Amino acid sequence: MTPNLNMFSLEGKTALVTGANTGLGQGICVAYAKAGANVIGVARRSCEDTAAKIADIGGNFQEIIADLSDISVIPQIVSEAEKAFGRVDILVNNAGIIKRCDAADVSIEDWDSVININEKMVFFLSQAFAKGWLSDHKGGKIINIASMLSYQGGIRVPAYTASKSAIIGLTRELANEWSKHNINVNAIAPGYMETNNTENLRKDEQRSEEILGRIPAGRWGTPEDIAGAAIFLASEASSYVHGFTLAVDGGWLAR
Ligand code: NAD
Repeated sequence: MTPNLNMFSLEGKTALVTGANTGLGQGICVAYAKAGANVIGVARRSCEDTAAKIADIGGNFQEIIADLSDISVIPQIVSEAEKAFGRVDILVNNAGIIKRCDAADVSIEDWDSVININEKMVFFLSQAFAKGWLSDHKGGKIINIASMLSYQGGIRVPAYTASKSAIIGLTRELANEWSKHNINVNAIAPGYMETNNTENLRKDEQRSEEILGRIPAGRWGTPEDIAGAAIFLASEASSYVHGFTLAVDGGWLAR
């Protein structure tokens, strides 16, 4: 029997992706447009690059410019998203920052800026969309972006590790509350991917070599590498998957 691949289609759905102007967020936006979704990209800066890539494949894309360091922007995001394409069906909490510094020297400001974007915003943006889904009973999909540092300690990135470890717990907690309402909350834990986030790491020859030597796949990942997992978790194909974090890491966690 031929499997029904329509279960992976996002035709007729609208997805909102934070941090859409570059890196993994851009990769997810393009993947969703290819799968048939209308895509809304939220970012601090213009998403012109993402918009051009989606225009090339004949997809629909709208951007919302917002600084995600403060949750006061959430009502603006929700109302602009609804104006763009009506109901949002899929939320991808992708925007995130990393600050590298010895634990002994981390400032309160740097701690707060990482936690605010990587953790606090993820919860309150999820809450904002889930409230609508709980009242219209049509369900929804939330995909959080975790990290290898959701499982491991890392070094010189204490706020990042704390925030990404929180993502796995939050993903489970929200799934426990919302699964019965047809809301799937899951996460993707990317391994070491070639984006701005890892630019400094890749420039550091020694660290870069150490990391590459530990990746069973023998290469760093790319934004295209998480497309399959992102589509799966946004589609009907994953309707009974709840509270799980799927690693897309070239085998890093298997070592
Ligand atoms: P990136 O730096 O290219 O992208 C980060 C995105 O977050 C950008 O679109 C940026 O505009 C957005 N952003 C940051 N601060 C913002 C703010 N105040 N307001 C609005 N948008 C803001 O890096 P990336 O690797 O694509 O990161 C995407 C996500 O993947 C992050 O959550 C990151 O922690 C996670 N991640 C990345 C890797 C990796 O190896 N690259 C590994 C694991 C997890």
